[in-house]
Amino acid sequence: MTSAWASARVLVVGVGGLGCPAAIALARAGVGALGIADDDEVDISNLHRQVLFEDDDVGRSKVRAAATRLRELVPSAELELHETRLLPTNAVELVARYDLVVEGSDNFATKFLAADACAIAKRPIVHAAAIRWHGTALAVGPSGGPCYRCLFEDVPLENVPNCAEAGVVGPMVGLVGAAQADLALSVLAGEDVFGELFTFDGKSLVSRRRRVTRRADCSLCGDAAHIQDIEPRRYVEGVCLSQRST
Ligand SMILES: [Zn+2]
Repeated sequence: MTSAWASARVLVVGVGGLGCPAAIALARAGVGALGIADDDEVDISNLHRQVLFEDDDVGRSKVRAAATRLRELVPSAELELHETRLLPTNAVELVARYDLVVEGSDNFATKFLAADACAIAKRPIVHAAAIRWHGTALAVGPSGGPCYRCLFEDVPLENVPNCAEAGVVGPMVGLVGAAQADLALSVLAGEDVFGELFTFDGKSLVSRRRRVTRRADCSLCGDAAHIQDIEPRRYVEGVCLSQRST
């Protein structure tokens, strides 16, 4: 029997704590083609949570190391390697090559860029984030309604702690990355999961799944949405809105 996603093309943005388990689940599920995009190298501090990498991978390109391991796990996997981060100059063109984007990046700038690029290219996206004991995953349809900006509005005006500063718990990203892959497969199977927000509290082990609603004034999918192209200054963390728009 052919699965609903046997011919689907899926792009994983960020091969980190979330992207590693998500990529394993998607490759094992047999998606038609799996793109992986990251510009980072494996660091020894990654190994406790980025489960595609071993000690010998330290210093290697994450994308290449991940591909080596994924090919061992799933020899039939069709992999496409992108040794780059998602950038304002490549985002729309890159996501448009795929049917679905799975975004587990570690910074808000990339998350908003991925959200905007997918809306412009009309591609669905599943976002995920995990910091300390709190994890979330959100499936967004090709036209938003709701989208990532309905929840978070914009790149934070203040510098926010990154994963290294705030701390990432290995089992948390493993679980949230798996939930992200689960939502991705549901999208590919045609299930109505757009707008579903999965949250997980690692302290209490309580998970919830609920629908979020579109914000009428959302800048990406609202009634008077105005984001229609990728303006690079929009994706800089710690820069206030007035500086971004000048
Ligand atoms: Zn929106």
